[in-house]
Amino acid sequence: MTKKKRILTGDRPTGRMHIGHYVGSLKNRVRLQDEYECFFIVADLHTLTTAPEKEKIAKLSENVREMVLDYLAVGIDPQKSVIYLQSQVPEVAYLSLLFSMLITVPRCQRVPTLKEVMRDLQIKQPSLGLLTYPVLQAADILMVRADLVPVGKDQESHVEVTREIARKFNSEFGEVFPEPEPLIGEVPTLVGTDGKAKMSKSLGNCIYLSDDEKTVREKVMNMYTDPTRIHPTDPGHVEGNPVFIYHDAFNPNKEEVEDLKNRYREGRVGDIEVKEKLAEALNEFLDPIRKRRTGLESEPELVEEILKEGSKRARKEAAETLKLVKEAMGLEYF
Ligand code: ATP
Ligand code: MG
Repeated sequence: MTKKKRILTGDRPTGRMHIGHYVGSLKNRVRLQDEYECFFIVADLHTLTTAPEKEKIAKLSENVREMVLDYLAVGIDPQKSVIYLQSQVPEVAYLSLLFSMLITVPRCQRVPTLKEVMRDLQIKQPSLGLLTYPVLQAADILMVRADLVPVGKDQESHVEVTREIARKFNSEFGEVFPEPEPLIGEVPTLVGTDGKAKMSKSLGNCIYLSDDEKTVREKVMNMYTDPTRIHPTDPGHVEGNPVFIYHDAFNPNKEEVEDLKNRYREGRVGDIEVKEKLAEALNEFLDPIRKRRTGLESEPELVEEILKEGSKRARKEAAETLKLVKEAMGLEYF
């Protein structure tokens, strides 16, 4: 039997997960679980790059729990895939230190997400940790020698940093790492309910996987649509309209979506009907996820046990990789 290829991807435990996370990355993870050996990292150390304060760290354990419940609810199966906590694999910090010698400061400064995060969170000067966010991520990915990284479009530039580090390492010290490929989701970046380019917790424009039916409906009814359209009889714009982007992503009834689009363009349907149909489709999509989640919430030790097992497994992998790295670099000279 040929060895399965590997996936590594993950998320920062900053709260519950939203439908943007789903189309950007979670959906691919669930789909590829059988085909690949999967490692899903709960990247708690990465949260420190923007939130190193004690009060925020105190929320981590709850956020980790919520996030792992979301993983399980969408169908990530801990029997098939390894779910682990970054901080329980300290080897990653060692690897990150070694990698930090293989990349320049200006290269890190050029990573586009750095500017975006600084703008969104109004950070005047990045900490050294924020600057090297992609280097730590490279260590996560290469620690398990992953081949494929399912991420949203915003993270593509981080995978590029990882590829450069892998190339540099291999050419200097010999072939240790694969050059991992990014796998962008079918919606590369889902817009927010307010029409802003990215659905994001920090922008408050999210529909969460665990939102109840009523909340989903309210959020949809308040969604940003075509600002040029005042009356239902005005011809409307479908392209780039968040309501139709969501219809395309979450409404499996393609005929209904086509019909709504045609009538919208011709000024023969009101925003209310389009939104009501969207709320129905979204609730139908979210219903089984919410039900599974509710079932899992009553098992108090579940998340802890999964993370303990997963982290043990990831650590074993980490120790092996670190050994290969040190041997290749000639760092085991005594
Ligand atoms: P948020 O901004 O909501 O806190 P985030 O981007 O900080 O989310 P991360 O943990 O950085 O969350 O990202 C988790 C994964 O989800 C990444 O692969 C990222 O590319 C993807 N992702 C996040 N938001 C979106 C979105 N709106 N559309 C598509 N993919 C997304
Ligand atoms: Mg992010």
